[in-house]
Amino acid sequence: MSDKEKRTHEDDDFQRQLRDMMKNANVKFMFGGPGMGATAEEPEEKPGETAPDHTMEILESIRKFNLKPREIRDYLDRFVISQDDAKKVLSVAICDHYNHVRQCVDHPELQEKDYAKQNVLMLGPTGVGKTYLVRCLARLIGVPFVKADATKFSETGYVGYDVEDIVRDLVRLADGNTELARYGIIYIDEIDKIAGKNTQGIKDVSGRGVQVNLLKLMEETEVNLVSQTDILGQIQAVMAMQSGRGAPQRTINTRHMLFIVSGAFDKLAEQIKQRLGRQQIGFDTSLHRETEDTSDFLRQVQSADLMQYGFEPEFVGRLPVRVAFNHLTSEDLENILLNAEDSILQQYRQDFEGYGIRFNIPSEGVSEVAREAATEETGARG
Ligand code: ADP
Repeated sequence: MSDKEKRTHEDDDFQRQLRDMMKNANVKFMFGGPGMGATAEEPEEKPGETAPDHTMEILESIRKFNLKPREIRDYLDRFVISQDDAKKVLSVAICDHYNHVRQCVDHPELQEKDYAKQNVLMLGPTGVGKTYLVRCLARLIGVPFVKADATKFSETGYVGYDVEDIVRDLVRLADGNTELARYGIIYIDEIDKIAGKNTQGIKDVSGRGVQVNLLKLMEETEVNLVSQTDILGQIQAVMAMQSGRGAPQRTINTRHMLFIVSGAFDKLAEQIKQRLGRQQIGFDTSLHRETEDTSDFLRQVQSADLMQYGFEPEFVGRLPVRVAFNHLTSEDLENILLNAEDSILQQYRQDFEGYGIRFNIPSEGVSEVAREAATEETGARG
């Protein structure tokens, strides 16, 4: 059975069960009809409804946002080893974004003006700290953060996951608090996989379609809190309206959400290498070094490279901040083990302490672990 058929089948089952349940509870399911009171009295989940106290607290913390890029970088230094460029670039982008959000909260008239959001494109191999860095940032600012793989998205949402689902996930993560979710961070990995293959003038339509849908989210759009395919959510929304307590908030605006996308971009590195090679023929260049790191090339990415790779110009234009992550050397990995707060060694130490055992590992042991991990080429995951 295909995914779509399976889903339709499950939906039918669910509707049947729901109808039986309603019948047993003597609830008539009619617009404006009597009988709704039976369920309307029960405490209902109203999508988008927020506890006023909590909302005030969040707005207050955004109003007070006054971190400087250096302070953010210092915080990141405690957790993320190496990746100095990324820490600098992201600290500035985050500061710019939340300073702007603060100004808009204080002066709502500013929302009418055009603003180029500091959405970020991160390029680099797996396991080098891309997600970790964004997670640390979200924790510092106190905003919700949600991550998804671009490969999950389909253009229409029939086969896979609709791009708007990620915004609804953000709201779910914020316990339905739309005021908090409005300022959240959305992180989409494997973005390189949705670059349309632009070969021989024929474009890969599905990758392009996902890019166009994402583009709308990244700019500004209203997203329905209840998906078209979420039958239970649709029913709850109707019931909430029927209860006479007013219509719940049905949409959320993505204007103040920060979008961070990332990918390994191996083939792009090769493409940039060729471009640089062509440009520098006849010159003595560093390209002929023995050890070439893909990040050396990714660092020199230009908009034209991304478009040639298969991204739409408008999509590229919505990602003004770009940064390449380095491969982690065995020294970096050793440093992560020894000095990063939250490192796995710290965790072991704590776990053993639970049994009253003092955990100790000699420095040669740490170096050996780091050396072996480096050969796996899976970054700090190794
Ligand atoms: P990716 O680059 O694929 O997003 P992650 O950020 O998920 O990789 O890294 C996996 C884990 O490895 C993180 O949760 C973190 O514990 C550790 N890690 C990766 N890179 C670093 C780093 N530069 N400094 C400290 N820890 C790191």
